[in-house]
Amino acid sequence: MNTKLLINGRFVAGKGAKEEVLDPATGKVITSIAEASDEQIEAAVEAAAKAFDGWSATVPKDRAALLLRIADHIEADGEEYARLESQNCGKPYASVLADEIPAIADVFRFFAGAARAQHAAVAGEYLPGFTSMIRRDPIGVVASIAPWNYPLMMAAWKLSPALAAGNTVVIKPSEQTPLTALKLAEKFAEIFPPGVVNVIYGRGASVGASLIAQPRVSMISLTGDVGTGEKVLQAASKSIKRTHLELGGKAPVIVFDDADVESVVSGVRTFGFYNAGQDCTAACRIYAGPKIYDKLVADLTSAVASIKVGKQKDEGVEMGPLISAKQRSRVAGFVERAAEKKHIEVTTGGKVRGGGGFFYEPTIIAGAKQTDEIVKREVFGPVVSVTRFKDADQAITWANDSDYGLASSVWTNDVGKAMRVASRLQYGCTWINTHFMLVSEMPHGGMKRSGYGKDLSMYALEDYSVVRHVMVKL
Ligand code: NAD
Repeated sequence: MNTKLLINGRFVAGKGAKEEVLDPATGKVITSIAEASDEQIEAAVEAAAKAFDGWSATVPKDRAALLLRIADHIEADGEEYARLESQNCGKPYASVLADEIPAIADVFRFFAGAARAQHAAVAGEYLPGFTSMIRRDPIGVVASIAPWNYPLMMAAWKLSPALAAGNTVVIKPSEQTPLTALKLAEKFAEIFPPGVVNVIYGRGASVGASLIAQPRVSMISLTGDVGTGEKVLQAASKSIKRTHLELGGKAPVIVFDDADVESVVSGVRTFGFYNAGQDCTAACRIYAGPKIYDKLVADLTSAVASIKVGKQKDEGVEMGPLISAKQRSRVAGFVERAAEKKHIEVTTGGKVRGGGGFFYEPTIIAGAKQTDEIVKREVFGPVVSVTRFKDADQAITWANDSDYGLASSVWTNDVGKAMRVASRLQYGCTWINTHFMLVSEMPHGGMKRSGYGKDLSMYALEDYSVVRHVMVKL
């Protein structure tokens, strides 16, 4: 297990304070890792700045070739990545291996191809005797800051478009879940020129803040909490750095009376509780039509009560623990405050599970009102609320009545209605009769306080590059 930082192509032990990295299923320490010191953070940014000249001058096919090797490596070593990721996040091992590893390899493959497919130059005459050209060029050193819920996936989402576009990167995984990014660093060190990718470690308020304040960082890419996004924007404003922010979410799930209850129940059971609901797109805020509401609550309650909660490699396990004791008490607090309300019924779950680890039961909260905290705030845990609406207008108004704007879904058998509702939702993504599905070709990103900038797709490549005009006097 690599516990060293990658700076300028070399592995070095952090010179800062040591942080414990835990297994959330047991609460036990997996390892301790020393954070990057200020000098090491500066050295990583310097190395990236020095490497930029050479890397940005490479042609797309050469960058693509290296990204493809990373994809092959992730696939070939998928079991070890899945083992480390599941140990560090508490997720079921089989699901990381089957659902996440192939998607992560695909992201590197997509951006390898995208780098070559991007139309970099367009030329034309707009003044007699002059030719204008549009160029798309890399930005410089990107500081990438990742969260703990999908550590390897977030590293892939951040590294692959940035590198494909010709930038160099200093990436900081979450202090809670660095293990897969540090393993990936070994492969980057082997096949990429020194300094193109640097991986540092440490807490956000110290190491993260110091990284984004570095004058030679040209762009900051953050996936994290809205509050962290605000801090990143303040730091970026000091030297006008480009920012790319993927922040929280509170996905509404609008279920009309004509929806297929079985599909909704199976969809919410999966997409509301994947990764124990610690997902910014989790199907967590259901608005159900007046006629379907009772059946939906009843069926969902029994379906969710059957979710098998357990450790990473337990037979048939579907849901693991929360990431930390702190996250679990935060989630428990939301449910306790909701349960105190007379109109609310906790139909299943609502309890901490004993026996070590940070487990919490999959929970359904029925009868929630639009003004309730449980409907308004991001819980980031295995808790789904259900609210009855009276008509489509009310459902859309309530769905949009949120600080967040990342993901949403609409469930109905009427395609026209689905499309009309989708067009009125203020969300970066709307799924129809499904939820949560992502593909490398399509953009993922938010509106409002969920941030801006797109991950995945050609749009991400654009976000990590700058449009320039070159004019020639003929
Ligand atoms: P977080 O904001 O606490 O941490 C995210 C990262 O930012 C970590 O690496 C952390 O060390 C760093 N950080 C914290 N403070 C910092 C600072 N002042 N300066 C620089 N870096 C700092 O978020 P988290 O708890 O790790 O992740 C959960 C949050 O992420 C949730 O709100 C979730 O919705 C969001 N999220 C969003 C998406 C998306 O695509 N929109 C995806 C995953 C997670």
